[in-house]
Amino acid sequence: MGSAFATAATKTARRAVLAALLGASAIVAVFIAERLSFESRYGTTVENLRLATSLGGDIVFLDEKRSKATRLAIVTREVRWKAEYLEAEPRLRAAMSAVREIAPPDIQKIFDDETVFANKRLSEIQDRVFELVDAGDTEKAEAIIASGVYQQNKAILRRGTEKFIENLRTRFEDERAGIASRSKLLLGLVGLSSLAIGFGFWRHLRRALARSEAAFMDAEAEIRSLALNDTLTGLANRKHFNTELARATSRVSRSGLNLAVMIIDLDRFKTINELHGLPVGDRVLREIGARLSAGSRAGEVAARLGADEFAVVCEFGEEMREAQQAAERLMKLVAQPVYLDGPSLDVSASIGMAICPRDATSPDELLRKADIALVRAKEAGRGQIRTFNEAMDDVLQERSRVEEELGLAIISGEIVPYYQPLVDMATESTRGFEVLARWKHPTRGLIAPAVFIPVAEETGLVTDLTFMIMRRAFLDVRDWPATLTIAVNVSAQTLLDPWFAERVLGLLAETRFPAARLEIEITENALVYDMQAARRVITSLKNQGVKFSLDDFGAGYSSLGYLSELSFDKIKIDQSFIRSMHESPSSAKIITAIIGLGRSLGLPTVAEGVETERDADALRALGCDMGQGYHFARPQPIDTIASTFLPQRRPATPKAIKAA
Ligand code: C2E
Ligand code: CA
Ligand code: CA
Repeated sequence: MGSAFATAATKTARRAVLAALLGASAIVAVFIAERLSFESRYGTTVENLRLATSLGGDIVFLDEKRSKATRLAIVTREVRWKAEYLEAEPRLRAAMSAVREIAPPDIQKIFDDETVFANKRLSEIQDRVFELVDAGDTEKAEAIIASGVYQQNKAILRRGTEKFIENLRTRFEDERAGIASRSKLLLGLVGLSSLAIGFGFWRHLRRALARSEAAFMDAEAEIRSLALNDTLTGLANRKHFNTELARATSRVSRSGLNLAVMIIDLDRFKTINELHGLPVGDRVLREIGARLSAGSRAGEVAARLGADEFAVVCEFGEEMREAQQAAERLMKLVAQPVYLDGPSLDVSASIGMAICPRDATSPDELLRKADIALVRAKEAGRGQIRTFNEAMDDVLQERSRVEEELGLAIISGEIVPYYQPLVDMATESTRGFEVLARWKHPTRGLIAPAVFIPVAEETGLVTDLTFMIMRRAFLDVRDWPATLTIAVNVSAQTLLDPWFAERVLGLLAETRFPAARLEIEITENALVYDMQAARRVITSLKNQGVKFSLDDFGAGYSSLGYLSELSFDKIKIDQSFIRSMHESPSSAKIITAIIGLGRSLGLPTVAEGVETERDADALRALGCDMGQGYHFARPQPIDTIASTFLPQRRPATPKAIKAA
C-alpha cells in the first residue's frame, strides 16, 4: 500500500517536473526566438536608420544647394548656376525616393503627402524662376523666390524630412522598448518555473538576457550617434552643427568674445568623383574629415554639412586677425594632396567666413552670410578665403532699403491702390475690381507688391498697409454702381490679427461703404496657420455680409477640407495653371477639376491671368464663370479705371459696365 503510494507520488512528481520542464522550455524558446528576431530586425533597422539619416542630410543639403543656385542665377544672371541647379535636382529626387523606400507604408504616406508634394512644388517654382531669368525678367523671378509659397514649401520640405527620420527612430525605439519589457516578463516566468528544476537554467538565461540588454544599449548608443554624426566622416552632421552653433553664439553673447563660422567647400570635387568614381570620392571626404577633426582645437566644432561641404566654428579673442589665421590654418589642413592607392589626388578648397556678432548673431544668418562669402571666394578662383562684408549682399541691401523706407511710405500715401476688373466670362461685363497695391516711389518709380508685400509681412507693417489701402479704395469707389464689388487681398497675419473683424467693420462704418460690396481674398496659408481663429473671423464678417474668396487655389495645399468647411463665395484658380494650360494637359485637367469642384459646392470660379483671347475661349469652354487678366484689362490707377469703366461717362461702350 505504502509503496504503491510512493510510486504514485513519484509519478506525480515526475509529471510535475516534466510539465515544469516543458513549460520552461516553451518559455525559453519564445524568449530566444524574440531575441533572435530582435537582433535581426535590429540589424536592418539600424542600417535603415543609418541610410535614412544620411539621405535626409543629403535632401536638406541638396535643397539648399538648389536654392542657392537659383538665387545666384537671379543675382548674377550666369548660366553656370543653372547647370548647378540641374545637377542638384535629379540627385535630390533620387535621395527622396531612396529614403521613401526604407519607411513602413504609413510613414511613407505622410512623407508623400507633405514632403514629396512640397518638393514637387519647389521644383516647379524654381523651373519657372529659371524660365524668367532666361527671359530676362529677374524682378519677377526675385519676387517668386521672396514669396510665401516658396518659403513655406521649403520649410515643409525641411521639417518633413526631419520628421520622417524622427518617425523612423521613434518606431525603432518603441519596438526596442516593447521587446525589452516582454523579455523581462518572460524572464520572470522562466525564473519561477526554474525554481522547480534548479538554478542552472536561470543562470544561463540571466546571462542571455544580459547579452540581450547589452545589444539594446548598443542599439541606443548607435542611434544616438546616428542622430548627431555624419555617417561617412564621423564629424558632426548638419543638425548637430546647428545645435552647437546656437550654443556657441549664446556663449559668445555672454563672454563678449568673437566667433568665426567657416564654410569649407572642396574645389572641383565633382571632377574627382567623375574621374575616379564615388568610392574614391568617399575616401577623399573621409580623409578631409579626419584631418579636420584631428586638426581642430579645443572649443572648435567641425562638421560635414553635406556632399563636399564642411563647416567649422571657432571662438577667438578681440583680434579679427585671429579669424583669418584660423581660416588659413584650416586651408593648410585641407589643401594637401590625398594619397590613396594610386597617384596622389590634388585637393583644394574655398572658405567663406562670417563673424559673430559683427556680421550677425543668429545661427541662420551667420550661415547664410558665410555662404555668400563662400560664393565670392569661389568666384575668385581655387583656394581662396573670403570674409563676409555687407557690400557682398545685393539681395540683403535691396531688402534693407525697402525695409527702411516702407513704414514712411505707408503713412505718407506712397502706397496706392490699382484696380483690375473681374469680368463675367459669358457676357464680358465687369462684376467688380480687385485692389492691387503699388508703391509710387519718388525716385525708383512704380514698385510691384511682390517686392514690398513680403517685407511688409516680415516687419509686421502689412496690417497697417492693408487698412490704408482699404480706406482709400472704399472712398474711391463708394459712389460707383452698387453692384460692383471690391476685392482686397488680406495676408494671413492681418486676417489673424485679433482686432481684424472689428477694424474692418469700423472702417466700413466710417467710410459708409456697404459690407456686401466688400470681398476679402485670402490664400490657404491663413487657414493652415490657425484654422480655429480664421474660422472665427470669417464667420463673424460673413454674418455682416462681407464675402470671402479663396485666392491662388491649386498653388498651395489645395485642401478640400478648407473649401467645404468655410463657406467661401468664390474660388480663384491660380494663374500658373492658366499660363500653362495650352502646353500642359495636366494644367488643363486641374482647371477642369477646380471648376467641377466649384460647381459641386455651388461656388463660382475665377480664372486669374487671362492674357489672350485664346485663354478666354478655352476657359469659357471649360465652364469657368469669371476671368481676370491683361486680356480684359491691366491693373490701373483710379483715374484711368474711372474714365474707362464708369457708366455715366461711357455708358454704352462694349466691355464697359453692363452689370449695373
Ligand atoms: P494676386 O492676389 O494673385 O493678384 C493677381 C496678380 O496677378 C496681380 O499681381 C496682377 O497684377 C497679376 N495679373 C493680373 N492679370 C494678369 C495677367 O493677365 N497676366 C499676368 N502675368 N499677371 C496678371 P500684382 O499686382 O503684382 O500682385 C501680386 C501679389 O501681391 C498679389 O497676387 C497679392 O497676393 C499681393 N498683393 C497685392 N496687393 C496687395 C495688398 O494690398 N495686400 C496684400 N496683403 N497683398 C497684396
Ligand atoms: Ca488676389
Ligand atoms: Ca491670385
